[in-house]
Amino acid sequence: MRIVVLRGDGIGPEISAATLNVLRVASERFELNIQLEEHEVGHASLQQFGAIVRPGLLEIVRSADGLILGPTATADFKDEHSGEVNPSKFFRKNLDLFANLRPARTFPGLRNRFGAFDLVVVRENTEGFYADRNMKQGNSELLVTPDVVVSLRRITRHCCERIAQAACKLAMNRRKHLTIVHNANVLKIGDGMFLDICRETARAYPELAVDDVLVDAMMAHVVRQPDRFDVIVATNMFGDILSDLTAELSGSLGLGGSLNVGTDYAMAQAAHGSAPDIAGRDVANPISLILSAALLLAWHGERSGAARYESAARAIENAVAAAMKGGRATKDVGGNLGTAATGQAIAEILRSDIATASAAAR
Ligand code: NAD
Repeated sequence: MRIVVLRGDGIGPEISAATLNVLRVASERFELNIQLEEHEVGHASLQQFGAIVRPGLLEIVRSADGLILGPTATADFKDEHSGEVNPSKFFRKNLDLFANLRPARTFPGLRNRFGAFDLVVVRENTEGFYADRNMKQGNSELLVTPDVVVSLRRITRHCCERIAQAACKLAMNRRKHLTIVHNANVLKIGDGMFLDICRETARAYPELAVDDVLVDAMMAHVVRQPDRFDVIVATNMFGDILSDLTAELSGSLGLGGSLNVGTDYAMAQAAHGSAPDIAGRDVANPISLILSAALLLAWHGERSGAARYESAARAIENAVAAAMKGGRATKDVGGNLGTAATGQAIAEILRSDIATASAAAR
C-alpha cells in the first residue's frame, strides 16, 4: 500500500512523525508492505515552492492508495487566487471525498464525565456553509459593500443523497441507529431537503431506527446522554462543530480521528487544527492522527479484500487503548508522556503483544 504523507503546519509534523512510527511497526507486524512517501504542504510548501499546495501534488496524491494529511494553518491562508488554498478543501473537493467519518468513543481507564459511548459523526464534506466548496469559480462569501457580507450555503440533492447513503450503510454495520442532525425549523428549504432525503434514503433500510434532532438541542443531548447515539449524519458545518464536541467528550480533542472518503479514495486527517498554541513543544496528542491512519488501513483492507489491513487497524486501536489505560500518553488524556514518546509507546505495544492490547481495548 502506497501512502502519501503531508505533515502540515503547527503540531502537524510532530503528530505525523508519531503516526509514521506506528504505521511502520504495523506494516512489519502485519506484512502490509506500506510505502510512505512524504511531501510538503502548507507553510513549508509555501516557502519551498511558493504555493500552499504545489502544482503536481494532486497527481502524486491521486496515484497513491491513500493520503495522510496533517492539520494545516487554514486561518493563515487568506487569498486562494495567489495560491493560498486551504489544503483540506483542495483534496476533499478535487478527490471528491464527500463523506467525513468522525468516530468518537470512550476508552477504558480514561477519565470521562459523561459515561461510556461509541458513536460516529458522518459529515457532508463538499458543500454547505463552507464558502470555498460551493462554486465552480470563486467563493460563496461575498463582500457586497465594506460593511455588508453575504455568505451563501449550497445544499444539493446529489450531495444529500450520497451522504445519507454513506450514513445508512455505516449504521447497518453498527448498532443500526441513525440520527439526522439539522436545523430544518429555521433553514426550512435547505435543511428541510437534507432531512427529507435522509429519511427517504433510510426507508430502504427498514432495520434502521431513525430519529432526528435539531442541531442546537443536539449540543445538549449529546453532552447529557452521548450513549444514546450511534451514527449521526449532518451537513458540513454542523457536523464539523458537533464532531469537535464529541471528540472532547470522549476524553480530548486530541483523540479526534477522521477519514474523508469518496468512491475510490480516502484521506486520513485529524479532526482538529494545527494547534499553534502548543506547536513545537512535544505535548500534542498524536492519537487523533494515529486513529485516522488506522481508519485508512481499514478502508483499504475492506475495498481490497485484504483482511490483514483491517486486523492492523484493530490492533492499532487496541494499542492506543492499552497505552492510555497504562498512562503512557499525553497530558490531555491523563498521561505524562510527550508526543513522540506516546507514538513510541503505542508502537512498542503494537510490536510486543497484540493479544494484550486486544484484551485492554474495550
Ligand atoms: P485547533 O483545533 O487547532 O485547537 C483547538 C484547541 O485544542 C487548542 O487549545 C489546541 O491546543 C487543542 N488541541 C488541538 N489538537 C490537539 C492535540 N492533538 N492534542 C492536544 N491538544 C490539541 O483549533 P484552532 O487553534 O482554533 O486553529 C488553529 C489553526 O488550525 C487555524 O489556522 C485553523 O484554521 C486551523 N484548522 C485546520 C484544520 C485542518 O487542517 N483540518 C481544522 C481546524 C482548524
